[in-house]
Parts: sequence; structure tokens; C-alpha cells
Amino acid sequence: MTRPPARAAFCYPDMVRLGITGGIGAGKSTAARLLMELGVAVVDTDDLARAVVEPGSPGLAEVVSAFGTGILLPGGGLDRGGLARRIFSSDSDRRVLEGILHPRIHQRWMAWLNRAAVEGIPMAAVVIPLLFEKGYAPEFDRVVTVGCTDRTQRSRLRIRGWSDSEIAARIAAQWPMEGKMSAADRVVWNEGCEEKHRCQWRRILAELRTRVTCSRA
Ligand code: ADP
Repeated sequence: MTRPPARAAFCYPDMVRLGITGGIGAGKSTAARLLMELGVAVVDTDDLARAVVEPGSPGLAEVVSAFGTGILLPGGGLDRGGLARRIFSSDSDRRVLEGILHPRIHQRWMAWLNRAAVEGIPMAAVVIPLLFEKGYAPEFDRVVTVGCTDRTQRSRLRIRGWSDSEIAARIAAQWPMEGKMSAADRVVWNEGCEEKHRCQWRRILAELRTRVTCSRA
């Protein structure tokens, strides 16, 4: 039997670590919800990204020191919409923000994986939009990309109230969807109804529960 490529040390021999990524609007958060319904422990780094800039946090203080108090709302919280407009119109601003947020987010999901392993959880998934772009793939046993057509992606993003140019800027800030799909171990093609999406996860989970466990035996 062929062994899978050596991924980061299997320091959690009993836990399968699953990385989930995909283009913006492809359906990663939807996948996270379906996985939870299927009994997998999941953390979505979009939630961690909010947590690391909560009012009073060192993360928020650093963002303010980099971007000024103009990115705060009257109540003291972060004006996420204003900041998003700024970073998606300036690559250097986006890099500065990522430099502040990503190490903090990374530290939180690594700590979460450690806790999950200590608790004896069999499979833990982390949803990371920029998983490949930031070089996190080796930290997982398997990476799954959630994909959809360009047309579907844009129509889902329009529902968020973004203009075509805002959508284009967000898509351009990530690897193309095809690149994420070819770099992944598995692809979930999220076109069509939710049941089709759920069925693909059922198949992948069944395969992972046997293959990853056997490959370690
Ligand atoms: P991401 O987390 O990748 O940005 P989401 O999971 O938030 O994407 O999905 C983007 C939007 O598309 C959401 O409004 C979601 O409800 C919707 N959506 C996701 N999957 C489907 C699907 N299979 N059919 C219809 N709408 C979907």
C-alpha cells in the first residue's frame, strides 16, 4: 500500500486533521455547518478573525496603530466594512493587516487543534480561506477545497451587496479556484442543492475515517 506524502508530523496520532478551503463564496461556511451536523468538530477562522480584534484586544490595538482611529466605529469596535474597502483597494494595506491578524488566528486554531487532540476527538476540521496561499497545507492530514463555477461564485457574492468591482478585488486577492482545487487532496463541488453537497462530505468522511487511520497503522 502506498503511504500518503509525509505531512507535518502526526503529533496527534489518533486525530485526523482536516483543512478546508476554497474560493470566497464557494461554500466553506456552509461546509462547516454540514460537517458539524455530520459530527465533525469544526472551527471557522472567519470567527477567529473577529475574535482577535474584539474591543480591548491587543489585536485591535495593533490594527488601530497601523490604520488610525478612523477605522473604529463610534462604539469602539472595528469598522470591518470600512477596513475591507481599504485593504481590497491597496495590496500593501492588505499585507499589513494580514501581518497583524494571521499569526494571531494561526495561534488560535493550533491551540484549538491541540485541545481537540487532548480531548480525544477523532476528526477536527479548520476552515481557512487562504490555506494554500499562507502555506498551511502541511499542517493537515488532508485538505479539501470547496469549489463552484465562477458564475455561481459571483452570483452568491452579489447577494452580500458587493458591487462587481468589489467582488473582483476579493477574488483577485486569492488563488484562482482551479489552483485551490488542483492543490487539494479532495474537492467538494458545491453546485446544486445542499443535499448534493452533504453527500460529497459523507463520502469523503467515510473514506478519511478508513484511509487515514489505516495509513498510520
Ligand atoms: P464561503 O464561506 O465560502 O464564503 P458560504 O458558505 O458563506 O461561502 O456561501 C456563500 C453563499 O452561498 C451563502 O449565502 C450560502 O448560503 C450560499 N450557498 C452555499 N452553498 C449553496 C448551495 N449549494 N446552493 C445555494 N446557495 C448556497
